[in-house]
Formats: sequence, structure tokens, C-alpha cells
Amino acid sequence: MNDDANDYGKHLITITQRPELVFAQGQGAWLVDEGGKRYLDLIQGWAVNSLGHSPALLAQALTQQAQQLLNPSPAFYNRPMLELAQRLVELTCMDRVFLASSGAEANEAAIKLARRWGQKMRQGAFEIIGFEGGFHGRTLAMMSASGKPGWERIYPPMPTGFPKARLNDIESVARAIQPSSVAVMIEFVQGEAGVNLADPGFVRELRALSTERQLLLIADEVQTGVGRCGHAFAYEMYGIEPDLLTLAKGIGGGAPLSALLCKERYNCFEPGDQGGTFCGNPLMAALGLAVLNEVCRDEFLARVRQRGHYLAAGLQKLAREHGLVGERGAGLLRALVLPGNHAEQIVSSARNLAPTGLLLNAPRPNLLRLMPALNITEEEIDQGLELLGRALTETLADALSA
Ligand SMILES: *Cc1c(COP(=O)(O)O)cnc(C)c1O
Repeated sequence: MNDDANDYGKHLITITQRPELVFAQGQGAWLVDEGGKRYLDLIQGWAVNSLGHSPALLAQALTQQAQQLLNPSPAFYNRPMLELAQRLVELTCMDRVFLASSGAEANEAAIKLARRWGQKMRQGAFEIIGFEGGFHGRTLAMMSASGKPGWERIYPPMPTGFPKARLNDIESVARAIQPSSVAVMIEFVQGEAGVNLADPGFVRELRALSTERQLLLIADEVQTGVGRCGHAFAYEMYGIEPDLLTLAKGIGGGAPLSALLCKERYNCFEPGDQGGTFCGNPLMAALGLAVLNEVCRDEFLARVRQRGHYLAAGLQKLAREHGLVGERGAGLLRALVLPGNHAEQIVSSARNLAPTGLLLNAPRPNLLRLMPALNITEEEIDQGLELLGRALTETLADALSA
């Protein structure tokens, strides 16, 4: 290890400001840096480690598959690819699966499928209506599809055809619809925008409006899917069925795996329209299958809901004690809303706590996001709340005296 702080990351292209730490190991809810300090991790790779760090189940699935078959090429079937697709169809309201590696890639595939359907069935309609604050990934087209302020200015010119409506405002969706509109793309809980929940009434109206105007409803469940919200998929909470569904993050349990699912009537790619070298590779497919078989069990999901309530109650208590705005979320995707823009300070103060640190995420200047492993224990939640309380006390005291 090189401990000259100036040397950290000097060979990496700079993409973000990272703390000067190198993480060496992870086990369950815990990460350990190269200096041996332990951190309770409520980021979990950005809501990807569904079963925590380095679970034995996934180590075993990976080892077994790595010894058997790594990649016969996407042009051939392999057994894990077929089994994962079958399992996804059994677990969802969908009929067909395309496997890929990242959320952005699955969302790109969804847009391509919707546009292809638009060419065939809707006289070339191609526009995809998205939402202000939405996040769908970092390819050029997904940056256009996202509703993140300022993103249209970083890499112009941007792909067009992605108008925006406002979440929970059905009139704004109705106004955005043009003859050229082919789909609406939504996160039921906007993760990156700060854990903003879609209202049940709005989602039901959106489903009805989409059907009436012949628009595909695309659910981006990259963050909300695979147990995160206490249900196998977040659309179940709303009692509706999307037409297209994308999954990533949690389905790989920490490894790169994503999927686009669709109903049979939208299964309209021609051979050659879509593909990718790593799409459906057996190593990741075997892992996805192991994750789904563990997470999408009734007892497991019931426990996620129970832990979600437990964490929410603890956060509400902290909010009362520290005079915060409040808490919100679904299952184990939760946010704590602060009275001012102290989120970054709290994140670093929590990380620097001794002897044990706490890892949190601040997607907005006034908001902390918590996305623990889905199998976190009550004791670990208690530890996390205690550490968070200390970081809040430290930071808010500093802020008041400043
Ligand atoms: C993270 C995320 C994405 C992008 O996934 P990547 O794997 O980073 O490409 C897309 N949509 C949502 C809702 C996400 O949370």
C-alpha cells in the first residue's frame, strides 16, 4: 500500500472525489479498509449488495460456474442464461428476458425495444416521456432520458426525443403526450433524486393513461427491484403491471448483471437489432439465479419489510431528537431529510467516526440515503442508528456554532 496521500488514484482518470481510503475486505454489513478500520456500510455498493459483502452463497455460485463455463459467446445458449430467464418470467408479470451488464444498458435496450415497437405498430412513434429528477444511467441516451438538471449541457449534442413530465402530476404527463410519443418511463421510487415515492393514485392513473393512449409503460426498477422495497418488484406495491421492466443493481448481488423484461406482445426485436458481448454470460447469470432464489422468497421479503419498518422508526426518532425534517422510503431504500445542506458534512463525519465508521450516501445536499444489505440484522441497524446519531450531533453542533 502506498500511504502518500497525493498518490491516491493518480493513475485513474478522475471521475469523482474519493476519500483517501482503500477498502480491502467486506463481510455482511461491514467493510474494512487497508488500515484495518471497520465501517458499518449503509451504501452497499450503491444498493447492489443485496446479501451484503462477500456472501458465501455467491462465492460458491461464482466458483462453481467459473470452473464449469465462463463464456461460450452470446451467440450460443448456456444453461444459467436459460434458467435465469425462466426464473425471472416465473417471478414477474413478464414473458421475455434480455440479459445485460448494467442498468444503463438494460434501459437502453428498453428504449430500443419501445422505438422498434413504435416503428412497427405506431407509425414510427419514438418519443419516451420521462420525469423531472429521474435517473436512468450514464450513456448519452440515458443522460437525455434522465431528468437531472444540467446534464444536457455536459456532452452536447444529446440524443433527442425524451420530453419530461412531473412525478405525481398526471396532467403534466397528459400535456407531454404527442402523436410521436411511444412510451412513458418511470422509477416508482426516484432513487438518485432523493427517494421520491410515486403516489399509488398517480401510478394507477399513469397505467390507465398509457393504455388509453397506446404508450408502453416502462418501469425502471434498477434500484427498486429484487427485494429493495420489501417486495420482489416495486410494481407489486401499486397493483399494476408495466409493459417493460428493467432490473440491475441488486440482481447481481454486487456483480454486473442487468435485465430487460417485456410482455410477449412487445417482443419485437429482429435478429441483429440488439446484442452485446457479455449479454447472458453464464458467470453472471449463475450469480443472478442464486440472488433471486434467496431474495424472492416470502420469508425473506417479509423480513425486509420488517427491517424497513424498524429502520424507519429509528430514523424518525433521530429526526425528532435532532430537529430534522423527516424520513421517507420503501422497504430498505430510505432517506433522512435534513433542515439544511449538511449532507456531505454528515457523510464525512460518519465515515471518520472512531473506532468504527459509518458509510452513508448523500444524493442531495439536504438528504441522506440509506440502502443497507437486505439481510441486515436489527442489531446492525441499532449500531448504524447510534453512529448516525453521533455524526448528526457532531455536524449539527458545528453548523450551529459556525
Ligand atoms: C443506478 C441506476 C441506473 C443506472 O444503472 P448503472 O448500472 O449504473 O448503469 C438506472 N436507473 C436507476 C433507477 C438507477 O438507480
